[in-house]
Amino acid sequence: MSTLFGKIIRREIPSDIVYEDDLCLAFRDINPQAPTHVLLIPKKEIAGLSDAGAEDQALLGHMMLAAAKVARQIGGGGAFRVVVNNGAEAGQSVFHLHLHVLAGRPFRWPPG
Ligand code: AMP
Repeated sequence: MSTLFGKIIRREIPSDIVYEDDLCLAFRDINPQAPTHVLLIPKKEIAGLSDAGAEDQALLGHMMLAAAKVARQIGGGGAFRVVVNNGAEAGQSVFHLHLHVLAGRPFRWPPG
């Protein structure tokens, strides 16, 4: 089922795109939780990490490398955090797999 991120991929709604390749797209979060807060999504519609299968192994690896590339390019060159919320109880609100890439401030552990 298509979500609002599907609409962003198809350019049906606007977004601030910072990175794109043939497999994934990255755009700035509309409600940033850090000076840099980018969402990196696969163009393939996968609802969440737990819905990914063995056939998605290369895609998931590609996304991790793309997240690091985006963090290097726009995260100021320092530390960054990558977060995946999987399921509503873990804070997922959009059911199209996405990596949150956060940078530009110190982060605490454990996360809330
Ligand atoms: P999650 O809660 O992990 O599913 O993350 C969904 C994220 O999508 C939240 O951080 C929202 O701020 C963000 N978001 C929702 N709508 C948009 C939008 N139109 N453009 C950019 N980010 C959005």
